[in-house]
Amino acid sequence: MQKLIVGNLKMNMESVSQRDTYCKELKEEFADLKTEHVIALCPPTVYLEHFTRIFSKMPVNIGAQDCFWELYGSYTGNTSPKTIKSLGAEMVIVGHSERRKYNHETNEDIAQKVAILLRTELMPIICVGYMESDDEMDSVRKQVEIIVQNFTTDDMENLVFAYEPVWAIGSGKTPTTDEIHTMIMFIRSIVSATHGKEVAENVAILYGGSVVAENVTEVCTNAYADGVLVGRASLSPHKFAQIARMLK
Ligand code: PEP
Repeated sequence: MQKLIVGNLKMNMESVSQRDTYCKELKEEFADLKTEHVIALCPPTVYLEHFTRIFSKMPVNIGAQDCFWELYGSYTGNTSPKTIKSLGAEMVIVGHSERRKYNHETNEDIAQKVAILLRTELMPIICVGYMESDDEMDSVRKQVEIIVQNFTTDDMENLVFAYEPVWAIGSGKTPTTDEIHTMIMFIRSIVSATHGKEVAENVAILYGGSVVAENVTEVCTNAYADGVLVGRASLSPHKFAQIARMLK
């Protein structure tokens, strides 16, 4: 079954020469890669145009790491989804725990971003997770409910959830296969309550948090994730390609 493998490059490749080295290595890694899965990379916004151009002839989709909830106007420093779309990107990560933490984004902010992304025909990848101090189920329930209750059944086909326990991000620690599977089923049950069983079974749910080549098959096969959101390992073109190679 086709999976979605998304690399989140975060605020890295700080210089143009680092960016160029990364792109060159990634092109080499992906040159002979045969995969039925969908590969996507989310570089820093300022590099979007470069990435869409460099990878235009390769099976690598490009996405952004965030956007604003309006299309234009006096919003200094923000990026319009329309700009992201016109640069050739196809998806946008929203609600990453780092944005919730450092930019104080709320569930309401994230719902507004999802609305504008759907209008702009960009696929939102909506991160949901929990902080170590939170009640996990309650925190994930609130983050998912605001989306399922504010969007239509048709919208559910055009968005993706990414379950990311905050403690697993960048830590080298992952939940057990059963724990990941339980949370994926929990998210499906929330979708089902509003949109029915069929929609819930089909909504795409990724897992993110210390995914590497060694655990990607377990996550996608035994925990039934529809793909993975990869942070640290995507910074190495070789490790990122290995993740794609591992998934049969
Ligand atoms: C992330 O930040 O979304 C993430 C999954 O990071 P990492 O793979 O490094 O845990």
